[in-house]
Amino acid sequence: DCTQRPQTLTILGATGSIGASTLAVIAAHPEAFSVYALTAHSNVDAMFALCEQHRPQVVVMSDGQAAQALQQRVKNAQLSIQVSTGTDALCAVAAADDVDTVMAAIVGAAGLLPTLAAVHAGKRVLLANKEALVMSGQLFMDAVHQSGAQLLPVDSEHNAIFQALPFAVQQGAGRVSLADHGVSQILLTGSGGPFRETPLSELAAQTPQAACKHPNWSMGQKISVDSATMLNKGLEYIEARWLFNCQPNELNVVIHPQSVIHSMVQYVDGSVLAQMGQPDMRTPIAHCLSFPERIASGVAPLDFAAMGALTFNAPDAARYPCLQLAIDACWAGQAATTSLNAANEVAVAAFLQEKIQFGDIAKICQQVLDGLALPKVQSLDEILACDEEARAVAMQQMSRF
Ligand code: NAD
Ligand code: MG
Repeated sequence: DCTQRPQTLTILGATGSIGASTLAVIAAHPEAFSVYALTAHSNVDAMFALCEQHRPQVVVMSDGQAAQALQQRVKNAQLSIQVSTGTDALCAVAAADDVDTVMAAIVGAAGLLPTLAAVHAGKRVLLANKEALVMSGQLFMDAVHQSGAQLLPVDSEHNAIFQALPFAVQQGAGRVSLADHGVSQILLTGSGGPFRETPLSELAAQTPQAACKHPNWSMGQKISVDSATMLNKGLEYIEARWLFNCQPNELNVVIHPQSVIHSMVQYVDGSVLAQMGQPDMRTPIAHCLSFPERIASGVAPLDFAAMGALTFNAPDAARYPCLQLAIDACWAGQAATTSLNAANEVAVAAFLQEKIQFGDIAKICQQVLDGLALPKVQSLDEILACDEEARAVAMQQMSRF
């Protein structure tokens, strides 16, 4: 519709893997989208290149020195872009009046406050930052309901599930009953990661390089490690519970090594709806950007003649201890999921710096959850305190390895 003005966007985490895929889709549809703000942590070169190409009005670098360096480069290039720093600035670009849509693609807990700011401002929120939802579950969904924000899942599994759900559930913002709409089960698929067939005895000593080499997807480092432990599927299980209001018997994980089916919804009549596609995040991103319409994403069509067999099996608990930890945490309550997410972030960062072994990630998560007194965690202050406490305990545990 050429009479409509373009959709204006803030992209939180613009220099990351999701940020790049989002900007690629947007660049192919200049009449439909315009970039208001871009944010990143500290990569000045990458952000400067994005500034030249996309001409945002505002840029936020969460690292203060990076903001100063970028400011200088922008000035030298005579670009009229406002550069700022800090969490308040991140929240401001997420909530700005000039913005229709916010892509929430910061990695980890750092994304919580800016993503919540977009939600409170009633934006159309494209959620990639699963950690934000995992660490704040009920509070996040209540905020969506109260502000009338439109929450669209970018995570490929949740995007697939969203596409396969009935209209009333799509519209229900995580409040309607799945059973009332004929849904018997959500089947969350996962590839099993790079160590699906590694001998169990060799798992513990795997390197960061091996862990980050995902067989099907190209992603940021943190989520790549999470895919290797399958805590990523665990976080996604918790994410699905909140997004779609699942009961414990309505959510199951299936290993599907080819990553052609991105997840499925099973109905009481025996129907199963699956969403399929290339393992390329531009597909779910384009779906969210244009919903309820469809736009070209630049992704090649599936070639069924060349595809070969699609296989499925149940996840092996001994291989993926983090998956069960997350499923248990999901039903134990907010303190458990907030703590698990925090412990995992600390452990994954240490693993990437080669301070601990791959096998220690699950141990640290387990120990933090075991030590949990399960206090009431509801308000934002309680959530942030719980996150901080779990990080401290994880650091302590880590000093023993
Ligand atoms: P990435 O590491 O490639 O990018 C992360 C982005 O966040 C970068 O722009 C970085 O500058 C920014 N960032 C990092 N730390 C920050 C901080 N402390 N403060 C502010 N900004 C910070 O990560 P990614 O793979 O793009 O993933 C982003 C999010 O999307 C994650 O939550 C991930 O779980 C989710 N996700 C990613 C994929 C994927 O295919 N990459 C798929 C599904 C979901
Ligand atoms: Mg996913």
